[in-house]
Amino acid sequence: MRKISIFGATGSIGQSTIDLIARAPDAYDVVALSGGRNIAQLAADAIALRADVAVTAFEDQLPALRQALAGSAVQAAAGPDALIEAAARPADWVMSAIVGVAGLAPGLKALEQGATLALANKESLVCAGQLLMQTARQHGGCLLPVDSEHSAVFQGLVGEDISAVERIVITASGGAFRDWPIADLPGASLAQASSHPNWDMGQRITIDSASMFNKALEVIETREYFDVAPEQIEVLVHPESLVHALVGFKDGALMAHLGAPDMRHAIGYALHWPERRDLPVARLDLAAIGQLTFRAPDMQRYPALQQAQQVMQRRGLMGAVFNGAKERALDHFIAGRIRFTDMAEITARVLDQIETQSGLIDSAMTLDNVTQIDHMARRAADAAAAHSIG
Ligand code: NAD
Ligand code: MG
Repeated sequence: MRKISIFGATGSIGQSTIDLIARAPDAYDVVALSGGRNIAQLAADAIALRADVAVTAFEDQLPALRQALAGSAVQAAAGPDALIEAAARPADWVMSAIVGVAGLAPGLKALEQGATLALANKESLVCAGQLLMQTARQHGGCLLPVDSEHSAVFQGLVGEDISAVERIVITASGGAFRDWPIADLPGASLAQASSHPNWDMGQRITIDSASMFNKALEVIETREYFDVAPEQIEVLVHPESLVHALVGFKDGALMAHLGAPDMRHAIGYALHWPERRDLPVARLDLAAIGQLTFRAPDMQRYPALQQAQQVMQRRGLMGAVFNGAKERALDHFIAGRIRFTDMAEITARVLDQIETQSGLIDSAMTLDNVTQIDHMARRAADAAAAHSIG
């Protein structure tokens, strides 16, 4: 039986992972599940999957979790240290599906014990890509991408040499506002930004899709994961979300990966890799679909894409600055304190400020330094948000 743990088990990716695991319960020995405030879901899944331990990220939720697990054999734990302790428990395969930089420390810990880390938590690659890749190499662990685009690229590279790659094209749906007049974007409401045309995902990544912060993170993720130069990475708007990515080779061949917009494909690929197994995803009927459309992204509509270039040029800790500022700007937008378009203005300001004024930006990439610069970026984003409100 394979020992597995799922971090962020109560979220959209976590629940899709559980859906796949629950179809073959005898194949898996579940070690740890983690969640946040959805204690009923966390406890129900932990009991059904006979996990050793269920961890909530929030200490104030421990009594509720203990109560929900009463009478079962599942241990209850809470808080960031408990997450790391759970990640240190031996497991063969670990799903990293916490949202935000909070997923970084547990992911690193899982790699340190030699696990295969299925990485949905793109923020950790953006903040600390070199550290994660190096940790995986050092401990014989393995990092598998669980983002539809990156899974598609990874699949396109099977049997190929990365030196034969000329370019990597990741597609973007264009999000909720792809056809809005740009002048209307400042007035976009939270409800409008929280509805995705093609994918059913957590609220934060859905809003990040409307602003293309998600695609900006994914461009950086591509750079870190596949170690290609920034100039080799392209973004292509593809409203149907059926082609997930394309790999262009030196001989001019362009290999596309197509599939239904269902994350169980990328999750299942990482779960069974290097094998391919039957997955409960819809099969595409291209004759019925008829046509696929593509267009270049409008950089004025999506300033985050330009900011990704700035981050990749500087590299090092700039990814953590960008992500930290983005996470706080998103918090302020969700709380109704700033407008939709203020988010990219805040990240632009924080990037410029920390790049030119902080000595810390040139420090080594350690978990401590990433954490420090993340806090610095969050404080700078709060100050910039106060300015937007004023
Ligand atoms: P979600 O909001 O649905 O779930 C997030 C999970 O993280 C929940 O289990 C929540 O309890 C937990 N969590 C939240 N804050 C936490 C904290 N501070 N500490 C510890 N745990 C915390 O998110 P999601 O859509 O499932 O996305 C998860 C990750 O996968 C993100 O990094 C996202 O970018 C990435 N991703 C998601 C999709 C998708 O289709 N949903 C696709 C590609 C990549
Ligand atoms: Mg994606």
